[in-house]
Amino acid sequence: MSDGAAAAAAPEASAGRLRFAPSATGRAHPGTLLSALLCWLDARARGASVVLRIEDLDPERARDEWVSGLRQDLEWFGLDWDETVRQSDCSEAHADALDRLEGAGLLYACTCTRRELRMHAERAPDGSVRYPGTCRTRVLSGGEWRRFGGAVRLRLSPGELDPRDESGHATPGDPSTLYGDPVVRRRDGSVAYQLASVVDDAVAGVSRVVRGRDLAPSTLVQIALQQLLEYPRPSYRHHLLLLEGSRGKLAKLHGAVSVPTLRSVVSSAQVCGFLASLIGLVSSAAVCRPRDLVREFDWARVEDRDRLVAWDGSSLVVLPDSVSA
Ligand SMILES: [Zn+2]
Repeated sequence: MSDGAAAAAAPEASAGRLRFAPSATGRAHPGTLLSALLCWLDARARGASVVLRIEDLDPERARDEWVSGLRQDLEWFGLDWDETVRQSDCSEAHADALDRLEGAGLLYACTCTRRELRMHAERAPDGSVRYPGTCRTRVLSGGEWRRFGGAVRLRLSPGELDPRDESGHATPGDPSTLYGDPVVRRRDGSVAYQLASVVDDAVAGVSRVVRGRDLAPSTLVQIALQQLLEYPRPSYRHHLLLLEGSRGKLAKLHGAVSVPTLRSVVSSAQVCGFLASLIGLVSSAAVCRPRDLVREFDWARVEDRDRLVAWDGSSLVVLPDSVSA
C-alpha cells in the first residue's frame, strides 16, 4: 500500500479499481451494508477490482476492535475484497503529500479557535463553516507542518471545477469560494479526511468512486487536491441513503441496529433481499446473496430517492416517505 500510485494502478488499469471506505467508528449497520453492496456490485458487474479501505485515522472515534468487526460484518453479508487496507498503513504517503503541498508554498498554520470559527455565520454547502481565510498569510515551510501543534490548512486558488458526477449529486462549483481553505492536518495531529482519502485513492490506483450521496459535497475539494498533487481524477457515482427518524428529523441511518444484532435475528440473505428490493434491484424481498445480483446489476434500476427504514426488533421495515419521527 505504501508503494507508488503508478505501480499499484497498472495491473487493473483496463477494468478499473474501486474502493469501499467505511470508518472504524462502529460496527456496520444496514446503511453500511447498502453502500458496500452498491460499490461491490458496480465493481463486480464491470469486472473491476475493489479494495476495502478501513478509515481509522480519527484518534477520538476509531477503534481497533471495529476494524476487525467491520471486516467480519461485511464477510457475513457475502462481500469479498481484492485487497483490504487500513488507512493508518498509509501514513508515509500522507506525509509525502503534505511535504509536497508545503513545498509548493500552499500550507499555512491556522490558529483560529472553534468558537472563532463558529462566530462566522457563513455556511458551506455541506453545513460546515466556510473558512474565511483569517490565517492565510501564515505560510509554513521546511517541514514546519510537522512541528506546528495546531490545524494546518491548504490555500486553494479560485477556480470552477466540474466533478462530472454520473448521479448529478456532486455539482460544479468553486471550492475556494464555497468551502474556503480546507484543513489538511487536524489540530489533534491526524491527517484530515479529504487529503487522506485523495492520497489513498491515488496510491491504490482507484479509478472510480461509488459512495453515498452525503459525501457528494466532498467531491469539489477532493478534485482540487487531486489537481494540486497531479493525481488522475476518478469517475464519480453517488447513491441514495437509508434514513431513519431521529429527534423529529430525518438522519442517515446509523444507530438503529448494528450487524451483530441483525445477525442474531435474521440471515444475511434476508437482509440482502430486503435491501435489493428496497432500492429496486429485485421485484420482491426474496432471500438472495450479493453474488446473485451481479449479472443483472444496472444503475438505471437503482432507486435514486433516499429511503426511510426502521428496525422493529425482529426485522427491517420500510416506512412511507411521508413519515418522520
Ligand atoms: Zn485560522
